[in-house]
Amino acid sequence: MKLPHDERFITYMNLLNKTQWWNSSELEKFQLKKLKQLLKHANDNVPFYHEMFKKLNFKPDNVTNINNLNRLPILTKDIIRNNFEKLNARNYSKDRLISSATGGSTGTPMKFFIDKRWQACNMAAAYRAWGWAGYRLGDKTAFLWSAHQDIQNSKNFVAKAQKFILRDITLDAFDLTDETIEKYISIFNKFKPKFINSYSSAIYLIADYMQKRGINNINPRAILTTADMLYDYKRKLIEQIFNCDVFDYYSGRDTSLQAAECSEHFGYHLSIENAVVEFVKENEIVSQGETGKIIITDLCNYAMPLIRYEIGDLGVPSDEKCPCGRKLPIMKSIKGRILDTIITPDGKMISGMLLPAIFAYYDIKGIYEYQIIQKRIDMLLVRLVKGKDYSKKNLNLFINIIKKKVGDDMKIEIQFVEKIEPTASGKHRSVISEILKG
Ligand SMILES: [Zn+2]
Repeated sequence: MKLPHDERFITYMNLLNKTQWWNSSELEKFQLKKLKQLLKHANDNVPFYHEMFKKLNFKPDNVTNINNLNRLPILTKDIIRNNFEKLNARNYSKDRLISSATGGSTGTPMKFFIDKRWQACNMAAAYRAWGWAGYRLGDKTAFLWSAHQDIQNSKNFVAKAQKFILRDITLDAFDLTDETIEKYISIFNKFKPKFINSYSSAIYLIADYMQKRGINNINPRAILTTADMLYDYKRKLIEQIFNCDVFDYYSGRDTSLQAAECSEHFGYHLSIENAVVEFVKENEIVSQGETGKIIITDLCNYAMPLIRYEIGDLGVPSDEKCPCGRKLPIMKSIKGRILDTIITPDGKMISGMLLPAIFAYYDIKGIYEYQIIQKRIDMLLVRLVKGKDYSKKNLNLFINIIKKKVGDDMKIEIQFVEKIEPTASGKHRSVISEILKG
C-alpha cells in the first residue's frame, strides 16, 4: 500500500474516527455542508456543471437537503467520455491533476482525474474501514491483489521507506498455480501477517487448496476481502481454514466511497462523509431492501467532480441500525461484481479481476465495454465494444497483456459487438466461465 503524501490524510483520518460515532443528524449536516461546497465549486469552475445548472435553474445556494440532488440527471460513463474536458475544474492547473482509471469490474473501463486531497480522503476512509477489522497502521499485512501498482510504487525512495514502516508485502493474485500457492503459503508462514487483504476470489482459491491438503496453521487476526463477490460458502471456507473473521469491503478507484463491514457483519457501513450515495431504479429512489443502481456524488473530488455518477454496481440500501452503534448507513449487499475465475490449460487460476486491473494500470484507449467468456479450457472469447479512440494497436496491447497471463496455449477469439447486455437481473458480468462455477 502507499500512503498519500499529504498531511490532510492524518487529519482526515482522525476526523473520520470521530464522525463514525456522530448521530444521524450530525452526519447529515456534515454531508450537506460538503455537498453544498462541492456544488458551488462545480457551478463556479466546471463548465459542464455550470451549463447544466443554468439550464435547469439549479442553484447550489438553495440546496437544503441531499434529496435536492434528484433534480440533476444521472452521470453515466458515456456522458463522462463525451464531456471529458468540460468536466475538469478550470481552477486546477494540469500539474495538480492526477490521472486515474477504473477497470470497471462490471466491464466498463473509464479514465478520470483526481487530486491529492481526494487521495487523502479516500485512504483515510479505507484505513478507517480496515480499522473495523482491528487493523492499525503498521500492522503486518499481506496484500493479495494486482501487483502492478506495487511494482510502480516500489521504485522510489519514499515508497521504499513507507514499505518499511507499513510492513506489508504484495503477492500477485493473478498468478495462482499449485506452485505459487505453495510459495505464498510458505511466505505466510515466515512473514506471519496479522492481516491478509485480498481479492475474494484469490484468497478463496488458496483456502480451497489448503483445505484439500489439510493445511490450517496460518491464522491471521482477520482477513479483508474485496473486489469480487464474496459468496457465503466462500466466506465460510476462508473463515474455517484461517480460523479468523472475514471482513468484506467495497472500494472503487473512481470514487472515494468506502463501504465496509464492521465486526457485527451486519452489512456495509457507507462512508457518507465522502459521498452521497443513492440507490436508483428507473430514475426513482428504491425502497429499503430493494435493489437499485448505486449512484454516487463524490464529495472529495474537486479536480473532476462526479455528481450523481452511476458506478455500474447494484446495491441494496437498508434503514436498519447496526448493533455496533455507528450511525453510518448500511448497504445490505452489493450485487454486480460477479467475476468468474479463468483456468488455463496448464492449470493456472486467474481471478476475473485481471481485466479491471489491466484497464486500471495500462493506458488502453478505445475499448468502451468488454466481456470475456471462457468457452473451453483452451479458448477465451473476448467481446468488445469499440470506442472512438479505438485502434488495432490498442487492441493488440490489451490482448498481449492477457496472453502474457494466460499463456500461448489459450486461443483468444475477438468479437466486436454494439453493446454488452446485462443479465436478466441487471448484473453486468465481465468475466464468465462456461467451464467452471464460482
Ligand atoms: Zn456496525
